[in-house]
Amino acid sequence: MTLPLSHPALTATDPELAALVAAEEQLQADTLRLIPSENYASRAVLEASGTVLQNKYSEGYPGRRYYEGQQNIDQVERLAVARAMALFGVEHANVQPYSGSPANLAVYLAFAEPGETVMGMALPMGGHLTHGWGVSATGTWFRGVQYGVRQDTGLVDFDEVRELALKERPKVIFCGGTALPRTIDFAAFAEIARECGAVLVADVAHIAGLIAGGAHPSPVPHADVISTTTHKTLRGPRGAMLMSREEHAKAIDKAVFPGLQGGPHNQTTAAIAVALHEAAQPSFRDYAQSVVANARALADELLARGFDLVSGGTDNHLILMDLTPKEVPGKVAAKALDRAGIVVNYNTVPYDPRKPFDPSGIRIGTPSLTSRGLGTEHMAAVAEWIDRGVTAAGAGDEETLTTVRAEVAELMAAYPAPGLTI
Ligand SMILES: *Cc1c(COP(=O)(O)O)cnc(C)c1O
Repeated sequence: MTLPLSHPALTATDPELAALVAAEEQLQADTLRLIPSENYASRAVLEASGTVLQNKYSEGYPGRRYYEGQQNIDQVERLAVARAMALFGVEHANVQPYSGSPANLAVYLAFAEPGETVMGMALPMGGHLTHGWGVSATGTWFRGVQYGVRQDTGLVDFDEVRELALKERPKVIFCGGTALPRTIDFAAFAEIARECGAVLVADVAHIAGLIAGGAHPSPVPHADVISTTTHKTLRGPRGAMLMSREEHAKAIDKAVFPGLQGGPHNQTTAAIAVALHEAAQPSFRDYAQSVVANARALADELLARGFDLVSGGTDNHLILMDLTPKEVPGKVAAKALDRAGIVVNYNTVPYDPRKPFDPSGIRIGTPSLTSRGLGTEHMAAVAEWIDRGVTAAGAGDEETLTTVRAEVAELMAAYPAPGLTI
């Protein structure tokens, strides 16, 4: 079955809301979704997250809850934890964080006191808000010091990171980010963290699926703590996990509950368990490898069309495009591409002379299109659409955007998306 999906109870109770859901389903079916943090969760994941497990309160952890009636919930959480440990090869997993940001906040709570120094990549360089950036609680409650990438290479300069870390002596160092097109050198970060006595946190929110599928090196031998969302390349429900060696298990669990959160979202825990089961299948390895192969092919096609890519290309699922040479601001391009049925986000590029709300770049990625089954043979067409869209954005050519939108919808119709089909 494909669209329209039926939501009989929702439609009967609240047709207004049901119509919005149906419209969103249609939008996700028809468009080329290139936002690298997004994906299509499977029908099984969606079903698990819509279950009555959400009716249950379960503050605490399996076997030590503050509410009775946990016969099933304890098993659900134990299953999710065991699957996370097996998939990533870790000694401890906490599957309760509501999302990536609270997961990171729990890490600070576990390992730093308010006012102490923490270190992460600067937001405009590709880091995440929660890595100590000023407008985030993590940058106001802690003293955030920030590293970046080199202007000439677009890569992290480990001499600079080491120098900063030894000078500032952070309690916690975050590596990872939201706009990093290159492989993260966890070993290099680990060496620096060891030198200055910091806890190293690998925030692999974007690349957890690639790690699980063997398409990016694992942080497990190097990082003290691994933080990840479950809804990006991992293709699960919106949620997060914290993983670590046994020595940090207690501190992390205590920080998540009762330190930061109340009752876990059991329906999400269930859906995480399903996603981890899916990620343990051989087909998930193929998906992860294809995500990277598609991104590389797309980067090559974009370079061939004269686009400027930060760091010159990609090793993972993500491409950061600097549109300065095309003389089209990122926001103008993103909005035009949206009208052409290609969904991207505008993004700062390192050393961006423009403002964060009106930056020079756009950020794209291949997880969603790969989940639909598109392969490297389609990347020339995708690059061509982006090229035509950006050119049309600069020229105010709405007709081309409309034409591209129809072409995109035609290809998308041939590749039904997981979650939107049964
Ligand atoms: C997405 C992301 C987060 C935050 O996740 P939310 O679920 O949006 O709170 C944290 N860190 C990194 C690196 C991310 O990419």
